[in-house]
Amino acid sequence: MSPSTRDLNPSQRILLGPGPSDVHPRVLRAMATPLVGHLDPDFIQIMQDVKALLKPIFGTNNDLTLAVPGTGTAAMEAAVGNLIEPGDSALACIHGYFGERLAEMAGRYGATVTRLELAWGEVFDVGNIEQALSAGDFKVVTLVHAETSTGALQPDIQEIASACHQAGALLILDCVTSLGGLPVEVDAWGVDVAYSAGQKSLSAPPGLSPITVGDRARHAIEARSAPPAVFYLDLLKLAAYWGENPSYHHTSPISTMYALREALRLAHEEGLSERYARHARNAQRLWDGLTELGIDLFIPESLRVPQLTTPLVPDGVDADEVRHRLLEKYNIEIAGGFGPLAGKIWRIGLMGNSSRAENIELLLSALSHWL
Ligand SMILES: *Cc1c(COP(=O)(O)O)cnc(C)c1O
Repeated sequence: MSPSTRDLNPSQRILLGPGPSDVHPRVLRAMATPLVGHLDPDFIQIMQDVKALLKPIFGTNNDLTLAVPGTGTAAMEAAVGNLIEPGDSALACIHGYFGERLAEMAGRYGATVTRLELAWGEVFDVGNIEQALSAGDFKVVTLVHAETSTGALQPDIQEIASACHQAGALLILDCVTSLGGLPVEVDAWGVDVAYSAGQKSLSAPPGLSPITVGDRARHAIEARSAPPAVFYLDLLKLAAYWGENPSYHHTSPISTMYALREALRLAHEEGLSERYARHARNAQRLWDGLTELGIDLFIPESLRVPQLTTPLVPDGVDADEVRHRLLEKYNIEIAGGFGPLAGKIWRIGLMGNSSRAENIELLLSALSHWL
């Protein structure tokens, strides 16, 4: 048989990288459910379920809460492309790769972008941001909650959001890695737009990405002088599709929606606080085990993202070789660093269904053979 007609049979991996994460068998089963149409009353109910299940995970009552088609980058593009009009000013807080991506995107949608940069791995304090805000007249501030390129968790979101509002700016917060693995409190913190992705700490397959938009940001979108250039991710059109009387905007990825609904249902069954506690507990196990192996961690403990650990590659060790051996011998996927951290760190994800004690034991014992 020619390779292209053989059975589909990829290796069975344990996904301990920065996403996608392992999905629960119930999520896989949900994807095999027969299709209905994207305007079928049953499907409209399923979308309403997804919306209702998402709100508590975002910590919000925002009516404009939905999942955009596409991965986290699509949700990022929805946030940036709907809020920014050509000629607007944006303050981009950059402390890793995804902050950089937000800055580039804001520029592509026509913003004049002021870059507030730190070394990769550091986090902002409110004073940094207040000072930068006072030097301009910004419509939008972009910030990453859990920087998956470094493993650093940005603290003080509430204080940063109120500094933004005092300066008349709206805060877009990237919660792609954080949502579902640690508390995100959109309403209590005053975040104007937060977005995530299915395939990280929510443990759904990639393809649908949650986003929530508060009233302040919604009014800014409604007050645009022209509709956003991005038709596919036009949030007001998407809100209409996710509303009471949906009309056609695009064909929703039906099977992926089934999967997201099941993944969200699993999160609520577990209980959100128990889920966050599990992520914290397993991260601590991994950190302790790596430390016992003599491996230092890049980010100080108080600033670590529990779902994404970044050990420093010990001197004399080839980061890629370890990664390849883990994949070939143990079917474990982890990732390397990139940009300024290429070859210097590994990135180990314990996201959603991948955050399990047995995965950590296996990874640590594999690493102990070589290090
Ligand atoms: C993964 C990730 C993204 C991009 O998401 P994709 O699903 O790869 O498009 C954006 N921001 C952060 C913080 C991420 O970890």
